[in-house]
Amino acid sequence: IGPPNLYVRFRLTDPVQPRAQSFVTHASPFSTITIWVVDERGVVRSARYTPASVHHLIAGPLMAMPLPQTPARPLLVAVKIAQPWNKIIASEARLDSASEGSGWDMSVVVAMAAICGMLVVPLLLNFGFYIVLRRQFVLWHIVMVGLMLVTTVVGTGFVHIGLDMVAGTEVAINSICYSAIAAAGLMFLVTFLEPDALSVPVRRLLIGCAPLVFSGGVFTAAKIDALRPWSALGTYLSVSLAIFLIVIGLVDAWRRGSKLVSFIILGWSPTLIVGVYRIGCYLLPHARPTESVVVFQLTIAAEVLINSLGIVIRFLELRRERDLANARAIELEGVAGRDALTGLWNRHSIERRFNDLFHLGYRTMAVIDLDHFKRINDRHGHAVGDSVLKVVASVLGEDGDACAIRMGGEEFLLLLRGPGAAERAERCRRALSTRIAAAVPGLGHVVTASMGLVEHDLSGNLDVEFAVLYSHCDRLLYEAKRLGRNRTMRERLTGFTPDAQMRTA
Ligand code: GH3
Ligand code: MG
Ligand code: MG
Repeated sequence: IGPPNLYVRFRLTDPVQPRAQSFVTHASPFSTITIWVVDERGVVRSARYTPASVHHLIAGPLMAMPLPQTPARPLLVAVKIAQPWNKIIASEARLDSASEGSGWDMSVVVAMAAICGMLVVPLLLNFGFYIVLRRQFVLWHIVMVGLMLVTTVVGTGFVHIGLDMVAGTEVAINSICYSAIAAAGLMFLVTFLEPDALSVPVRRLLIGCAPLVFSGGVFTAAKIDALRPWSALGTYLSVSLAIFLIVIGLVDAWRRGSKLVSFIILGWSPTLIVGVYRIGCYLLPHARPTESVVVFQLTIAAEVLINSLGIVIRFLELRRERDLANARAIELEGVAGRDALTGLWNRHSIERRFNDLFHLGYRTMAVIDLDHFKRINDRHGHAVGDSVLKVVASVLGEDGDACAIRMGGEEFLLLLRGPGAAERAERCRRALSTRIAAAVPGLGHVVTASMGLVEHDLSGNLDVEFAVLYSHCDRLLYEAKRLGRNRTMRERLTGFTPDAQMRTA
């Protein structure tokens, strides 16, 4: 393809063959194609085509040009291709008995269409994964699969079902797609494998070469006139470089004991091997790459399936890691937020969670303080005092619609929701005496508790601060102690204006 014009000659010597009606070749850029037909009687007819006037097939990456009609049976067909950009325009050239040209068999077309459909599913699946788990490798796979879909639609000729596209545009799209797939493949490899699967120099090499690989396709797509004979090499060399680097990466990861690399080796090997073969077909003068397109597409389908499986497994693994980390965090938070003696939440955790609980309907707050607790410690020792505190905690923890908190010392807090919250709190307070007496015998006196309780009205202000509500309770508790202990002082708040509805137990 170095010289400006390329000639192809067909000699039609077999009289049994059906009469040739069209010239068909692989869709590839050119400036003009001129066809001469010489018939048995020596009559010569010619026709001239431009990229816009050729007919593109939808069953294969092919373009067809009807032969000029001669009065008698044609004997010789000569074709002049001006400014060819790729040798395939000649190596794939043939005469066809259909004037529109004939492409792949129906079975191949169906297989190619199935592959297109198959590529859509992992694409959607990957989008879903990315939403849940924002990992770079998912994005690179989306790029790869998305562009594979584009090259399949363009490379099979399907694109001509709906679009009028000249061969130059087709080749430009395909070149950019192939080099982008190769570059994204390098990035996928680096980001998908375990963090230490690749050695640092190999990792740097792969990442550093990705832009270079991509630029090869851009070079082909740019169609620089002065470099026409070498234009196609841009994509072939860049994809070859990517294949070489990928093999280096796979070997490196394998040797370093990566588990995930087996999915890539399994998924990519057929594509890499057929890719090398396909590039060979494009480069070697007589090889015909159109057939390799079919095999290549099949390997791409296999690649996407196996890789998607790998991604699902990696996804599950990452999710398990994340869940484990979350569980651990929750566990640690639980330990930190709990009081060691009673197992109830401590003051710190309720301060943090109060707003959430308040919005969940926990609008009744009660502060409960044991009366003359110091006496128990003094008379029976600290250990007995501790047992009493544990009993209190278990009684307060029994209400399923209440959160019990140990604020410190022998002071507890209850947050309640649901019907009769204030009455339930009061029942709890009263139950303490009998439960303590039953669980800690020999105390010698009835242990009682005082309580300050605030009910927050639903119609009131929704943004309530813990400290504000707590100080109301504290004031009421102090009031209960002052009035003689073993009682509840209660208040209803509406937008923080306490109405004077107090009650003494
Ligand atoms: P009042 O009726 O006014 O509440 O009198 P009180 O004795 O209950 O109150 P005060 O605050 O004077 O005493 C609280 C005591 O609680 C003092 C402290 O020794 C005891 N205490 C605080 N934390 C613990 C604990 O973890 N275990 C035990 N056994 N005692 C504790
Ligand atoms: Mg007390
Ligand atoms: Mg106290």
